[in-house]
Amino acid sequence: MLTSRTSIYGLIGHPLEHSISPQIQNAAYTKMGLDAVYLCFRVRGSVVKAVRAAPSLGISGLNVTIPYKSEVIKALDVVDELARKIGAVNVIRFGDETAGYNTDVGASMRVLKEVAGDDLSGRSALLLGAGGSARAMAFGLAREGCEVIVLNRTARKSATLAKDVSSHIPGARISSAALGHRQLEQAIQRSDVLVNATPVGMYPNVGQSIVDAAMLRPEIVVMDLIYNPPVTRLLREASKRGCKTIGGLKMLVYQAADSIQIWTGKKAPIDIMLSEAKRALRNFAFQQS
Ligand code: NAP
Repeated sequence: MLTSRTSIYGLIGHPLEHSISPQIQNAAYTKMGLDAVYLCFRVRGSVVKAVRAAPSLGISGLNVTIPYKSEVIKALDVVDELARKIGAVNVIRFGDETAGYNTDVGASMRVLKEVAGDDLSGRSALLLGAGGSARAMAFGLAREGCEVIVLNRTARKSATLAKDVSSHIPGARISSAALGHRQLEQAIQRSDVLVNATPVGMYPNVGQSIVDAAMLRPEIVVMDLIYNPPVTRLLREASKRGCKTIGGLKMLVYQAADSIQIWTGKKAPIDIMLSEAKRALRNFAFQQS
């Protein structure tokens, strides 16, 4: 039952209509016996003003998604070192100070290591995209000692990302280029890991994939950050070619669990959250059919 003592957490971003974070988070609170609720907040006007006002409304923590991950930094008293380097915050904790963190990096590396093995150093990773999630992946992969190639539709953005990673991570090996058929083919030949950090293949455009399946070798681990659908065309085709594959759902759940740990100091029930996430996506697919 919700009362005046119930702790309030939530998500800010745009659009939020299809977010499954409320289902994942609220299922975790129930399992953990927390008197807490998680809501989506649509921000009208300045996100900086909204974040500054949140603690006075009794909000204890927020997740942040596109397009606000960089802008919210202006509203924070402290920003954790990694989030500052990346320039993106996806978790805010309101306490004596308003603090920002990035749990996307840790979550994505944990998921990747579960499949590709703990030691990623010396591996070659091809990253498609240079937006918010690609930034987190690029920093994570470079920190793990991977050699990273970033290919992006807008070459200027991949060049900026490579420059940012190089300037913040000593010894980082990262290069960039425009995303084109030839660049893709050449980069895939040298890669052990391929990560799609673009929305290509996401609902409703589920028939799309940037990668021509014939380019894939079975030795490559293929990760798609998209979680709706849970298995994208890229992952389906990669599986058929014999590649190990990773969908975006676990990363979503891991970063949500890390958010709960930051807010409450308690470990979140990953299994419950994962099955709730799958259930929410099945419901979503059913509603669309
Ligand atoms: P974003 O900041 O908007 O960046 C999107 C990137 O994709 C940009 O580099 C953009 O290139 C590229 N792109 C967009 N449309 C493209 C197209 N038709 N062809 C080629 N490249 C295209 O988005 P984001 O936050 O990084 O999210 C990317 C994907 O990751 C989304 O599907 C999102 O749902 C998913 N994601 C998943 C998780 C998770 O926990 N699993 C977390 C975050 C994001 P330009 O620079 O040329 O525009």
